[in-house]
Amino acid sequence: SLAAVPFVAASAEQATPPAPQRTFGYAIVGIGDLATDAILPAFANTTRPRVMGLVSGDVEKARATAKQYGVPDRGLYSYDTFDRIVDNPDIDAVYIVLPNNLHAQYTIRAHKAGKHVLVEKPMANTVAECDAMIAAAKQANRQLLVGYRLRYEPYTQAMIRMAREQEFGPTRAIVCEAGFNIGNPAQWRLTKAVAGGGSMMDIGIYSVNAARYLSGEEAVEVYATEYSTPGDVRFKEVEETVHFHMRFPSGVIASCMSSYGVPLNRFRVHALRGSFEMEPAWNRTGLRLRVMRGSTVEQRYLPQRDHFALMMDHLAERAATNTAPLTDGVDGRHDMRVIEAVYESMRTKRPVTLV
Ligand code: NDP
Repeated sequence: SLAAVPFVAASAEQATPPAPQRTFGYAIVGIGDLATDAILPAFANTTRPRVMGLVSGDVEKARATAKQYGVPDRGLYSYDTFDRIVDNPDIDAVYIVLPNNLHAQYTIRAHKAGKHVLVEKPMANTVAECDAMIAAAKQANRQLLVGYRLRYEPYTQAMIRMAREQEFGPTRAIVCEAGFNIGNPAQWRLTKAVAGGGSMMDIGIYSVNAARYLSGEEAVEVYATEYSTPGDVRFKEVEETVHFHMRFPSGVIASCMSSYGVPLNRFRVHALRGSFEMEPAWNRTGLRLRVMRGSTVEQRYLPQRDHFALMMDHLAERAATNTAPLTDGVDGRHDMRVIEAVYESMRTKRPVTLV
């Protein structure tokens, strides 16, 4: 009978279960706030990825963390013994969660050891470093993923779809705001040689990335101005607040603000027949998406997913097929190019053309 058809189909599917897939081992480099609060717990939500290694300058912390997450002793390394990872077949990929100035060095060393790499944002402190990292991945024939976790979660993906499929007509303007009031003046984020810069490097990069993925274009011109509170000890070396414009080939301008002084947490697309926005836009949980058309405001609800688990799953999938991840080194380099132009424009007080 007709009613039996779906049942037959379902049981036929059950009769041939998918072949069990091999696990995909990660070594986490740097057991700091992000690794502890978000990345290590995310292994509870991954499919193939498992944490099989820890690289740390703190032996006690590494031992305790290994015990908590079941990492075998053979997966424990210091920064000096890190290169021995080449001999560890448990480890397929290295996830670099170090201060920004160490991203390039550890990415290159991991690729030389034949591992895939997931490196946190910002990819590095300069375009030149990005180039060296991309070259190292290519030479090793391994994949490099830059940790733009929002690209892997449903809300951001819905925003991108609404913009690209022109649900409200063509995009006319983009507004991106990202910031927070930074605490402890002694932290590495406020030391230029380590962080590479101030709010632009840490949080402004979310706006740069969003303006690019919402427009689907690369910026041709950047203009930026800065304000840092005079006498504030936090901003002796790095900038506090930056207002910047990115001009795209279609004529769309993204107008953005980056700050270490005030909380800012929103991306908005103004299209011909309506606008859509996320606020909060860059948190790890509790994202919200609103659509405005005429006088109506609609909130859209989507599943809340673990950004880090989705991203680690994605690298495992792309490694298996040896294809570039969604947020690869080239994507990370594009953002660094814009950020270097932002700093140049702040210095020269003139628009900077990107060719
Ligand atoms: P933390 O300072 O909390 O952790 C960094 C860790 O790196 C330290 O705990 C330490 O680990 C290791 N380390 C090695 N050398 C140094 C050094 N010279 N100075 C300080 N630490 C060192 O930083 P976060 O975890 O907040 O940030 C790490 C990276 O992750 C950054 O690039 C940041 O931009 C990115 N990040 C991304 C987020 C996202 O949502 N995608 C959110 C937060 C951060 P150990 O003691 O084990 O050696």
